[in-house]
Amino acid sequence: FWKDVPQGPPDPILGISEAFKRDTDPKKVNLGVGAYRDDNSKPWILPSVKKAEDAIYNGKGDHEYLPIEGFDAFNTSAVKLAYADCPAVADKRIAACQSLSGTGALRLGMAFLKRFYPKSNTVLVPNPTWGNHKTIAKDSGLDWKEYTYYNPANYGLNFNGLVGDLEKAPDGSIVLLHACAHNPTGVDLTHAEWDQLYDLFAKKNHVPFFDMAYQGFASGNTDHDAYAPRKFVKGGKSILLCQSFAKNFGLYGERIGCFSIVCDDAAEKDRVMSQVKILARPMYSNPPIYGAKVVSTVLNTPDFNKQWLADVKTMADRIINMRAALVDGLKTCGSTRDWSHITKQIGMFAFTGLKADQCQRLAKEFHIYMTMDGRISLAGLNSKNVNYVAEAIFKVSN
Ligand code: PMP
Repeated sequence: FWKDVPQGPPDPILGISEAFKRDTDPKKVNLGVGAYRDDNSKPWILPSVKKAEDAIYNGKGDHEYLPIEGFDAFNTSAVKLAYADCPAVADKRIAACQSLSGTGALRLGMAFLKRFYPKSNTVLVPNPTWGNHKTIAKDSGLDWKEYTYYNPANYGLNFNGLVGDLEKAPDGSIVLLHACAHNPTGVDLTHAEWDQLYDLFAKKNHVPFFDMAYQGFASGNTDHDAYAPRKFVKGGKSILLCQSFAKNFGLYGERIGCFSIVCDDAAEKDRVMSQVKILARPMYSNPPIYGAKVVSTVLNTPDFNKQWLADVKTMADRIINMRAALVDGLKTCGSTRDWSHITKQIGMFAFTGLKADQCQRLAKEFHIYMTMDGRISLAGLNSKNVNYVAEAIFKVSN
């Protein structure tokens, strides 16, 4: 049956982990993986998550089906975490559906737009963006187009270019926005720039489609990181929001996320919710239960919640410290280049500015693995390998 099926290309990011695994050199470093590691390069189970797991499965857990929209206590707490004091929460006009992590939320969101937003068939995505955004759009039957975002000249934001492109876009365009910790660049808008962007969205009636995969993980503060979606909602925009609990809870493999749509009133919310469920049912019927129980137990138990806020800050701070240590290491080696963008950028990743041939040399000569666009995951750095990495980057970039 399948003799004409062609071999597909390997996933560009997961392919790096494979090459890393095959490398037997003890000095090897994986800067490709988008998952948090502690100072010993080990995955970290958050103490708050551990406490919740002990509490849940202390003889009380079962493995029943969830409803299509997922675990009610989870959806309520996910909405509260994202939207906090936005009046839309108290008005009960936010439709929320548990999703298969952030990816599943994006998929539900794009399927919803495809079916119910006939005004546009195109999602505008930042240039660059997380590669999966484009393929999710395509597989959902939508087209995608890039808007200006990154400025390679200063490794920062091209805000004027961004505003110019969104001004030029047809009114009512769908625009995908990274709420915080932009992947792959680590370059975020300031709060003042978000305010300006909000005015533009209000004027152009664009549809804000937020991807928030790193709430708390960027600055260490969950309110600070949720500034943009809250600003839009408080201003009266009907946003779509994709939340992932992979990074900020360390629950990568549990596939726990939430897709929500802010509606004009409770009746609209009920109609929207009914359609989101109709989309989810034939995709996966209903979502997994474990991560939903863990997240809602953490968020709804005051002691665990306090511990979790500290855990998130521990991760964010370690990453921020690794940025500084890498730049210090480069200076110590004698690099005269300006590496300050590495400490200015935020979140899991830094866009180093290294070229593909330099990245290749890092892999071949120094056993350091990263994506060929020069993106490094700071989580792969620790107190033991950061100077080795700094020296290697110095050698290939001088
Ligand atoms: N959006 C962005 C920007 C991401 O970086 C990621 C994770 N790499 C995701 C969404 C989704 O991840 P997950 O499906 O594991 O929650």
